Amino acid sequence: MISVNQAQRIVLKYAKPRHPRKMSLGDVLGLVLAKDISAATELPSFTNSAMDGYALRSSDTKSASTGFPISFRIAEYLPAGKIPTKKITAGTCAQIMTGALLPQGADAVIPIEETEKKRDRMKIRMPVPCGANIRYRGEDVKRGKILAKGTVIRPQEMALLAALGCDRISVCSRPTVAILSTGNELISHSERPSIGKVRDSNSWVLEALLRTEGVCPKRLGIAKDSRQDLRKKIREGLRSDILLVAGGVSVGTHDLVKSVFEELGIQQLFWKVKMKPGKPVFVGSKGKTLVFGLPGNPASGFVAFEIFVRPAIRGMAGRSDIFPVYHTAVAVHPLKHRKGKVDFLRGIVTKSKGGFLVRSAGRQGSHCFKSLCQANALIRLPENISRAVRGDKVDVLLLWGGSL
Ligand code: AMP
Ligand code: MG
Repeated sequence: MISVNQAQRIVLKYAKPRHPRKMSLGDVLGLVLAKDISAATELPSFTNSAMDGYALRSSDTKSASTGFPISFRIAEYLPAGKIPTKKITAGTCAQIMTGALLPQGADAVIPIEETEKKRDRMKIRMPVPCGANIRYRGEDVKRGKILAKGTVIRPQEMALLAALGCDRISVCSRPTVAILSTGNELISHSERPSIGKVRDSNSWVLEALLRTEGVCPKRLGIAKDSRQDLRKKIREGLRSDILLVAGGVSVGTHDLVKSVFEELGIQQLFWKVKMKPGKPVFVGSKGKTLVFGLPGNPASGFVAFEIFVRPAIRGMAGRSDIFPVYHTAVAVHPLKHRKGKVDFLRGIVTKSKGGFLVRSAGRQGSHCFKSLCQANALIRLPENISRAVRGDKVDVLLLWGGSL
């Protein structure tokens, strides 16, 4: 059996970035730039006012003071978007709004709050330094490289790309993913189970986890524990970049998934990892497709997703932040653990003055939903320790959507 680290390294080798594609701006949130972005225009693209106020010549304001106000004639009104028609000369100003083009001759803007207006005249009682409240053309972004290849496009990058007029953007596209639940006992979540039957929850947790990575998976439904049904549905799943098959990879007599994988030419990269839950996880590859056989128990599949599938998706999407980030927390009570495998316990992390504290989220059985829902973190207890006692520092992986 291999270690979690070895298994992660193997997954990563097979999770190389997909071919770059040009996509429109509306579709690139969360994706990775496949090429540098060069600014074709400067930002701001013209010199403009940073305030609602008056544009004037700073030299005209030098002697202004509380006792000796200076008065200006308002030559023009400039809302954002209007092109000035008047040059600012001695003793004149233009009323200007934020973002409006600075008129010729003006070299400063005084905010409206610091002025007094009467009909077509405006008075100030203090000098205004040259350059005050002006946003100069190109002061933010110069022409040339502005975003590097490999950058993840977040909402703020969306703003910059839009401001620069980028529409077709070269990105690493996300992998396509198919999910298949397997098991004779499974029925749809919308059906009423007769005794012995179980509602399919795995396809839903997997789909939800995929959506947190921006992936909208193809649902292949539920396959019976029969070679024929498995063969047909797995074959369909092999059209995707990643295929997740839940259930049937253990050692039960009905666990046929691995043998159907073999029959279909899926090469095994590993099966069984020194971890709990999630031990029977299988990873294989065929052509461009990375195939995961995930254990059927809900908590096992969840953990296996976080440890192997999420990194694979990120790798294929060209991300450099591939592996989960662990924080340190102090255990508030002893945590059960057996040496020799990595335990991923469902935990509840809270903040305290000294940092994070963590406690168990309840029953840790791999079939348990409740502790999974109560957890906001996975506690990682490494292979080489035999227990964690109260006060021990442990690694915690904060889960998506949780709060502290
Ligand atoms: P398996 O990995 O197929 O041996 O399944 C292990 C356990 O997980 C069994 O109790 C199954 O009934 C349960 N299980 C498997 N697949 C699902 C699923 N899609 N939804 C809910 N439970 C499942
Ligand atoms: Mg099964």
